Amino acid sequence: MTFYHFFKVDMNHFSLNLPPDDNGFYGEFGGVFVPDVLKENIINLKKAFLKYIDDPTFQEEFDQLMRDYVGRPTPLYYAKRLSEKYNTNIYIKREDLNHTGAHKINNAIGQVLLAKRMGKRRVIAETGAGQHGVATATVCALMGMECTVYMGKIDVDRQRPNVERMKMLGANVVPVTQGGATLADAVDVALMDWCEHPDDTFYLLGSAVGPDPYPQMVARFQSIISEEIRKQLLEKTGKENPDYVIACIGGGSNATGAFYHFIPQEGVKLVAAEAGGKGVDSGKTAASISVGREGIIHGFRTMVLMDDAGNIEEPYSISAGLDYPGIGPFISHLARTGRIEVVAVNDDCALNAAHTLTSIEGIIPALESSHALGVLDLMKFKPTDTVVINLSGRGDKDMSTYLGIPVME
Ligand SMILES: *Cc1c(COP(=O)(O)O)cnc(C)c1O
Repeated sequence: MTFYHFFKVDMNHFSLNLPPDDNGFYGEFGGVFVPDVLKENIINLKKAFLKYIDDPTFQEEFDQLMRDYVGRPTPLYYAKRLSEKYNTNIYIKREDLNHTGAHKINNAIGQVLLAKRMGKRRVIAETGAGQHGVATATVCALMGMECTVYMGKIDVDRQRPNVERMKMLGANVVPVTQGGATLADAVDVALMDWCEHPDDTFYLLGSAVGPDPYPQMVARFQSIISEEIRKQLLEKTGKENPDYVIACIGGGSNATGAFYHFIPQEGVKLVAAEAGGKGVDSGKTAASISVGREGIIHGFRTMVLMDDAGNIEEPYSISAGLDYPGIGPFISHLARTGRIEVVAVNDDCALNAAHTLTSIEGIIPALESSHALGVLDLMKFKPTDTVVINLSGRGDKDMSTYLGIPVME
């Protein structure tokens, strides 16, 4: 991909050498498409982000919390029995071992540090699987901030343990009943709240989506994942670059973080697993790249699940964290330019992969991460390949799905 020769990537995880452009565009995707009432919030946020992202004391505070509070670096684990099963060399990046059980905390810490510096007192967030809500409630407890989390009513019902954790952490969890009552609707309500409280409120967005600067901000905080993978691979194999990096995509934050430092490395194949649901042609899917069209959602241009009239369609996935009708603009751009390969992984394939990892490696993955593992059954790898799979989170929250217990309505 000659395109990326222009971007010299600095190993510092706060480097600014990848897209977007100054207006927040990744090719034709991204940008800022928000009502006027939100424009000033966005401009102030971008100013603060650009001011602090390269500030040494900000970086120091971020690094220290990553190490002492989150527990980074997370291990890069050589999965011997899984490697034997697939006759290749599989390394698992253990984001499931982060404090609160997923990669979401990396971004939540970065944004809450920014919120503090901007003098905000109140934090709002949306959540799907509840992982981002838990991460946000956690950092708000840590920093003494007031916290409100919007969550689709359907997700509140299917992710009970996380709702209870958020409440214990002191967050006000607000069930959203409008629309399909899932993640997309929770984002709408959070954006409305932000319009109504522009002065004292910080909107802590959980994925690499939304109007600029959110996608680049989230990508930068999550890029600590690929930075660590390179160092750890070098130590373990003598090479910084694997043949493959595989990650699941909901909004695209763990994938962007796992891919980030490899994007300019042409030899590294990057594979994104999107949620096929019951099949990309079944009408019950969240595969926005495979079957979506270009459109605008939540303040940015990207690939969106839409009908012929341009109405956003209800996404479906067995996994609450992948149940989003759009995808981050950077991922759309990387797919459009051919830098990443996108594979749709259906519910049953993800479930199978979860049971395989659990039975032969003793690791219960999050349902979202199981979609990345599902790629092992869909692609062919050589015995000499080095394959890194980003295990974005742990499966405790998904036990009832794994055990086939119906969710309470
Ligand atoms: C939220 C979540 C995802 C999906 O979000 P991305 O922004 O695409 O990473 C994936 N895995 C886990 C464990 C999550 O909690």
